[in-house]
Amino acid sequence: MLLARKGFDVKLFEARGRPGGRLHTSDEGEGALYEAGGEWIDSDHFRIIDLLKEFGMEPEGRPTWPRRVVFRGKTTTEDELWNDALEDDLRVEAAARELCRDLVNPAWLNKNHGDLDRRTLGDFLREHTQSDAGLWWVTSNYRSDEGDDPDRIGLLGWLTGYMHYLERDGDVMSAYRVPGGFRSLCEKMLGSITVAPYFGAVLQKVSQDDSGVWLHFERSKERVDHVVLTLPPPALERVVFEPALDVTKRCAIEACGMSRAIKICWQFDKDWWHEEGWGGSMHCDGPLQQTWDGSLGEAPILTAYVCGEQAADWIKLGDPVKAGLYELTQICPQASEHFARGWWHDWISDRYALGAFSHLAPGYVLEHMEYASTPESRIHFAGEHTATWIGFIEGALESAERVVAEIEKTES
Ligand SMILES: Cc1cc2nc3c(=O)[nH]c(=O)nc-3n(C[C@H](O)[C@H](O)[C@H](O)COP(=O)(O)OP(=O)(O)OC[C@H]3O[C@@H](n4cnc5c(N)ncnc54)[C@H](O)[C@@H]3O)c2cc1C
Repeated sequence: MLLARKGFDVKLFEARGRPGGRLHTSDEGEGALYEAGGEWIDSDHFRIIDLLKEFGMEPEGRPTWPRRVVFRGKTTTEDELWNDALEDDLRVEAAARELCRDLVNPAWLNKNHGDLDRRTLGDFLREHTQSDAGLWWVTSNYRSDEGDDPDRIGLLGWLTGYMHYLERDGDVMSAYRVPGGFRSLCEKMLGSITVAPYFGAVLQKVSQDDSGVWLHFERSKERVDHVVLTLPPPALERVVFEPALDVTKRCAIEACGMSRAIKICWQFDKDWWHEEGWGGSMHCDGPLQQTWDGSLGEAPILTAYVCGEQAADWIKLGDPVKAGLYELTQICPQASEHFARGWWHDWISDRYALGAFSHLAPGYVLEHMEYASTPESRIHFAGEHTATWIGFIEGALESAERVVAEIEKTES
């Protein structure tokens, strides 16, 4: 869209039969509408907020009910968190702030912090917590942000992401959603340009010579002056490049961590949770990990968001919707009585994503991160994994701005 607005002649190729990629508003009919992929917008994700406003869409505020917290059979709410967990939470935050003082962005410039790059977030959380409840609470929160277990996340990468949060005032995380879902935004974006996308076009090979770039699909090929590849790293790994990409780029693609996350969504005949005085949001120490009210249409829907090893375990089950409902009913007995139907979305096996979003694995920042975004002549790399807002929708938009500037520079 940005390139078309700058007057470039643009073609769009997409493997799936729909726009949006990892933004996927699922419409199951009869008012059952929910986000199967990316959903929440932090209040300082200004690019996405501005984009919505540009299309006349007002971001919808998160419901204000406090989250329910369930640990070892005890239940409380986030605003009345157990003291030991709260103290550990504050301890972790203070330690992270202290370490951030010495760091700079972009992350790979912190060459003298190899020790932090080799360490894991999990190790750091264990060091700065003193109670079981506290360790579980911080693990649960940061696993949800990172989309995978803290033992898979590099500390330096996490800290440089955390630097975005230092200036934050109040609770800005997951502040908004898109009314009607991201589907409506994607449709509006497509409608604003005169380009007809080629859906079902699976890129298999990219070759380039002095005259330009050839894109090879199953039954056709196209010549272009530049190509912007937004494929997630595991999907990029499947594309053949001729000549081969630089070794630094190949290593950056291969080493980029992809978080393991799934969503399970249940539709009910009524929003029984509101009758209980609960908004539907919960962190629990059982296999469901986290839930929230996922309804975007009239049908009442609860969404469970499960990350890491537990997500990998869920996808081995025959029927995660039913098994998940059983788990939910253990905590909320009303659930099974009002259950109507459900769906689940496995992003780990999704062939065009092979993971939910990227994270910075131990050792990645100093060895590989800077090479994820570098262009290879007329081949440009975009997508959340190439941005400083790594993992977020905001990162995908940030990367779009960067590649437009790259292409303009080469063409001028
Ligand atoms: C379950 C889940 C929850 C999330 N929650 C949030 C959230 O709350 N907030 C947030 O900010 N972010 C969230 N995210 C992350 C967010 O959705 C992504 O960071 C963002 O959408 C990525 O955009 P992208 O353009 O980089 O990649 P994509 O959207 O993946 O775009 C890449 C495109 O390339 C296509 N493609 C792949 N292979 C090929 C090929 N061979 N040929 C042609 N096309 C191909 C794909 O189909 C896709 O359309 C979540 C993601 C998931 C999965």
